[in-house]
Amino acid sequence: MKKILITLLQITFLASFAVANPFITWFPQEFECPIDKEKNTFMVWGSYGSYIYSYPSKYQWLFFPWTSANSYYICKKCHLATFLGDFDRLPKEKLPAIKKVLEDIKVSKTFKDYNELSVSERMEVMEKVYAVLEKDESWWENFYRLKGYHNGKEGNKAKATEARKKSLELIQKDFADEKSETPKKLALYISGAMKHFLDDDKGALEDLQKALETKYQEKDAKPEDLKNAEEGLNERIKEYMEKIKSEKNKPRLFDSTNDDDH
Ligand SMILES: [Zn+2]
Repeated sequence: MKKILITLLQITFLASFAVANPFITWFPQEFECPIDKEKNTFMVWGSYGSYIYSYPSKYQWLFFPWTSANSYYICKKCHLATFLGDFDRLPKEKLPAIKKVLEDIKVSKTFKDYNELSVSERMEVMEKVYAVLEKDESWWENFYRLKGYHNGKEGNKAKATEARKKSLELIQKDFADEKSETPKKLALYISGAMKHFLDDDKGALEDLQKALETKYQEKDAKPEDLKNAEEGLNERIKEYMEKIKSEKNKPRLFDSTNDDDH
């Protein structure tokens, strides 16, 4: 999981593949833990459809497969925890340091199936594992946004708030950085989203309004793709603002009830 920020152009690109696969499917696969050689069975996704981009997790700019519990791998023996795709691809030279981190990890129960542990608990371990891997701030911003999402879903309000505050702080820093490759329009969408989920609707609407007025830009993109991305995101922003202004449809009201977990 080198880059976890999904940009609009990626959505257009991925969606063109996804249409042929109308259902989300997962299948089990055996993985050998790079730390202790323990054999673990984890789920791997087989297919999905472009509808995943309209699931409610879009209000936190998060998408399948990272919204799914299946994507959070943890070894049942040493408790090495990573995102799907990273488990057996960790840099070899980092393994001793990761092993050391894992020595102090205690999980709430022994388990056979990794999904017996909550995603939020797995993410606590991941946070320590990835601290060794020198990820950049944009990666961590996405990590904390996901941590807020999963804690919110599990009803851990205080932990969700703490994670979303970290995400907001990092996306604001990213926005202010002229060298950042994160499209400014998207950074504003994300900061608006985090403010909404942190109960600051005034701030959220200001950021989304600014996002609406900011031109969509992404490195190495074709003008036509940029135009489509611009229109697509504007539509999403307008709908989001309407929802925030409403009484009963505010996305954060469904924080712990929406079910994107497939
Ligand atoms: Zn292990």
